[in-house]
Amino acid sequence: MAIDPTLPYDPQNIFAKILRGEIPCKRVYEDDHALAFHDIAPQAPIHVLVIPKGAYVSWDDFSGRAGESEIAGFVRAVGHVARQLGLVSPGYRLLANVGRHGGQEVAHLHVHLFGGRPLGRMISP
Ligand code: 5GP
Repeated sequence: MAIDPTLPYDPQNIFAKILRGEIPCKRVYEDDHALAFHDIAPQAPIHVLVIPKGAYVSWDDFSGRAGESEIAGFVRAVGHVARQLGLVSPGYRLLANVGRHGGQEVAHLHVHLFGGRPLGRMISP
């Protein structure tokens, strides 16, 4: 079910538990600002989620409240993960769902990184 991105951050969301090490993940990359791990239900040969370490509900929350170093660190981490996975030359797709129309189901900002095959149309009709 889609989350309401206007609600306050819920520290019991599943990605907060992953960040605290309460739930395992298949980690791809980690630094001071971000954690990247494989999606539990991949929709492409490579489907990685990159999340900021700070408590942000969505892209809206993050872009509005995060500090400059958090934003720079997160954006750089996403780029680093794509390079680490060898996706720059073949290409890849980034996606951040926000709220009901975006289909966001986890209330901690995450950027989906898809790759490993041609990804087709950007949005299905
Ligand atoms: P959203 O629809 O919120 O943009 O995407 C949430 C994503 O999180 C989905 O692709 C879903 O498969 C993934 N996901 C949900 N729970 C878990 C989990 O416990 N571990 C991992 N690795 N991914 C999860």
